[in-house]
Amino acid sequence: MPLWLLTVLASHDVTPHMRRVTFALENAQAFDHRPGQDLVLIMTGDDGQPGRRHYTVRSVDKAQGQLDIDFVLHGHGGPAERWALTAKPGDTLEARGPRGRTTINPAADWHLFVGDETCLPGIFSMIKSLPATAKAFAFIEVADKADQQPLTAVCDVELEWLVRGGPAEPGSRRLIDRLALFAPRPGRGHAYVIGETSTVRAQRQGLIARGFDKSQISAEGYWRPGRQGGHDHIFDEAEAAARG
Ligand SMILES: Cc1cc2nc3c(=O)[nH]c(=O)nc-3n(C[C@H](O)[C@H](O)[C@H](O)COP(=O)(O)OP(=O)(O)OC[C@H]3O[C@@H](n4cnc5c(N)ncnc54)[C@H](O)[C@@H]3O)c2cc1C
Repeated sequence: MPLWLLTVLASHDVTPHMRRVTFALENAQAFDHRPGQDLVLIMTGDDGQPGRRHYTVRSVDKAQGQLDIDFVLHGHGGPAERWALTAKPGDTLEARGPRGRTTINPAADWHLFVGDETCLPGIFSMIKSLPATAKAFAFIEVADKADQQPLTAVCDVELEWLVRGGPAEPGSRRLIDRLALFAPRPGRGHAYVIGETSTVRAQRQGLIARGFDKSQISAEGYWRPGRQGGHDHIFDEAEAAARG
């Protein structure tokens, strides 16, 4: 994956639990990404060694040579969260990518997005990229009402916020139960199911049990308690065995 040098230009809190860092992006004309893809940021871990953290490309302005990343302030004091809280103009980061297969399926008749605040940057940028003829549904869980963000999109989108009223926890019943109530529309839809790993696994299994084909689901674990950085592939046991 290509290596990029990011230099902090500015940062501000978009909402109480989301800090946006705007970077100058060297060689921006060569930066090609699909909405929903992320960069692997090289961060110094707690052990002093270089670690990797995945962060979605929130937006890119190639003409200005700028790139935005939104960091969730999750409250566990991880290296990426600490970095975002103290980032100041002139600070630099190395990043590899863009990567990731959670991107729009252009053949889908409708699109269903589900995730927590770590997925908000990806879900918003994917929805914004849809044409006016597209139909989208989104369920996004956030800590507080004040963490909701306005969405401007040209497609027809129904966005529902699910407010926790506290820190994120694994196995979100709020998200799992809301998705279970979703009535699939006619045609062949595509579900983008991302966020905390055990929540995503339960949601994917629920969709498959309700008749979704696996090819209609993009699923990826963005974080889980105790894990540091990285991401989780979401397979069921039979698939995992088949993959060795
Ligand atoms: C493809 C992809 C795209 C992502 N895009 C974004 C993005 O745009 N913005 C964003 O903020 N995050 C995003 N994430 C999630 C982010 O990479 C993780 O939250 C990451 O672990 C944060 O790094 P850290 O150094 O702060 O904490 P780490 O050192 O990685 O984790 C320390 C501990 O903090 C806890 N923790 C970590 N993240 C969370 C969380 N979100 N909520 C609650 N507890 C948590 C866990 O218990 C963990 O063990 C993405 C992940 C993936 C895989």
